[in-house]
Amino acid sequence: MRLFDTHCHLTWKEEENPALPRIERAREVGVDRFICVAIDLENAKRCRELAAEHDDVFPTVGMHPNDVGSIGDLDSRIDALKDLAADPSFKAIGETGLDFFRDWAEPDAQRKSLEAHLDIARDRDLPVILHCRSAIEELLPILRARGEHTKGIMHCYSEGPEAVEELLGFGLHISFAGNVTYPKSTALREAAKVVPENRLLLETDAPFLAPQGKRGQPNEPAFVKFTLEALAAELGRDVAQMAASTHANASALFQV
Ligand SMILES: [Zn+2]
Repeated sequence: MRLFDTHCHLTWKEEENPALPRIERAREVGVDRFICVAIDLENAKRCRELAAEHDDVFPTVGMHPNDVGSIGDLDSRIDALKDLAADPSFKAIGETGLDFFRDWAEPDAQRKSLEAHLDIARDRDLPVILHCRSAIEELLPILRARGEHTKGIMHCYSEGPEAVEELLGFGLHISFAGNVTYPKSTALREAAKVVPENRLLLETDAPFLAPQGKRGQPNEPAFVKFTLEALAAELGRDVAQMAASTHANASALFQV
């Protein structure tokens, strides 16, 4: 069984939590593709370095909405993002999006950064990786107003089924993380039921959001297996077949 972790932060706090043992443990359970997602530009360069050492690791470039800071100096960082994104090593743009659960970055800076990421992804024909926390009512109108096909991923989907249809209509894939396994995540599991099999992806968002049974410890790409198993059971699908379909979806989207 081949597994694809479409979203992990292998280079986040690496000094405490080195990437290599986590990569190796994941390979042992069949993970053979890792999308190493950047949270800022320095981190993107480190993701690129790690990917250069491992054929199964692929980097992204972007600025996490919690890390976009203030709007005052955002233009220069967006320029730097554009420059860096010209490197064909990067397989996706992000993560970007909106996070109004935390107030670490100004909302206007988050919106402006999001639009810039969407432009770059469209211009380079790369998938965009979208983060959305306590902000779906703001994200949907932004995507609607653009009126274009958006190739990419609604990552760590955390809404009910209501928003799924419109997100799919924009062109997005929907990716589920460990939180879909939590007993209280009923709405999330309902949402998974309305995502067509050819638009469904799996991720860990490691080191965050360890699945049920592993909660309280750092998440890691090997645990994508638990999310796969839980989701397959919930949807009444065969585990191996769902591993294959999600792997194929991700391979086609990221072109890896
Ligand atoms: Zn993330």
